[in-house]
Amino acid sequence: MRPYPIHCVSIVIPVYNEEDSLPELLLRTQAACQQLRHDYEIVLVDDGSRDASAQLLEDAALVEDSPFVAVILNRNYGQHAAIMAGFEQCKGDVVITLDADLQNPPEEIPRLVAEAEKGYDVVGTVRGNRQDSALRRYPSKLINLAVQRSTGVAMSDYGCMLRAYRRTIIDAMLACRERSTFIPILANSFARHTTEITVAHAEREHGDSKYSPMRLINLMFDLITCMTTTPLRLLSIVGFAMAGLGVLFAAALIVMRLAFGAGWAGDGLFVLFAVLFVFTGGQFIGMGLLGEYLGRMYSDVRARPRFFIEKVLRGHPATPAPAITVDGLTSNSTSDQVLS
Ligand code: UDP
Ligand code: MG
Repeated sequence: MRPYPIHCVSIVIPVYNEEDSLPELLLRTQAACQQLRHDYEIVLVDDGSRDASAQLLEDAALVEDSPFVAVILNRNYGQHAAIMAGFEQCKGDVVITLDADLQNPPEEIPRLVAEAEKGYDVVGTVRGNRQDSALRRYPSKLINLAVQRSTGVAMSDYGCMLRAYRRTIIDAMLACRERSTFIPILANSFARHTTEITVAHAEREHGDSKYSPMRLINLMFDLITCMTTTPLRLLSIVGFAMAGLGVLFAAALIVMRLAFGAGWAGDGLFVLFAVLFVFTGGQFIGMGLLGEYLGRMYSDVRARPRFFIEKVLRGHPATPAPAITVDGLTSNSTSDQVLS
């Protein structure tokens, strides 16, 4: 592994209804970046917030010589799509992602950059003192285990978005056309050298988690379907096992009936029902899983843009309007998209 020369560091932060955290986030992130020996930019992506977040970002980006870049999406596309929009607009040799709610302390940025400089493609983090409720902690442990089993990538904490990626990894991720992505796993599939460092983790101070149970379930399916199609194969294996069990059970029923008479089978009717319910349940789970893959394939086939960037605001000095690409479509219309 060779040291990796870094000229510019980009910080990408997705923002969704975080107006209370933003002032402190901007201050602390900028202060942390000032510790770096490199050029830096802080790209904040507004993911269709309904509060004043977008306005705050625009104000920050329009200040003279501001390090902030405001990327405004037209509506809410989800955390990972928002980060992808940020990736598309950033230019750093190393890109660091961070949550806007200050659960990931921006003060850790220099440590991540130092690790990336050693030559790692991806620098992950482990939350030293995890501050989430048990209800969030256990599902995420389960997810980590599933990822480790199926991808063989040994990272212990996929839930923490405070991560550093080398430029080549960012470009590889941008070249991916799928719409439902889980960035840490996607990145690992392109990385050769990865490492993890332990970072502090704080409790959310303002507002609530933006993930409702339904969105968490969706994220979990994104995570599973983006890394593997093994569950589909598992489905057939489970199907075979169930069919085998069914045959055995039927044989057992016949034997019992021959041994103990017809009355026994009649009384055992409800046992049959119970078994039927189990099998039907299994089938529904299988069909649901098929549906998850199919739904994602459908949205990929439709090839709608993963997100639509309404406008990008960069601090002075004024730069020419960059071409805004929306998943391969390039539009140069500057009317409302790029200011300053
Ligand atoms: N977020 C986003 N779009 C969404 C949901 C969340 O951009 O649809 C951002 C949010 O503003 C925060 C980060 O993603 O910066 C993580 O969200 P949150 O803190 O709610 O997730 P949790 O920490 O509960 O996993
Ligand atoms: Mg959070």
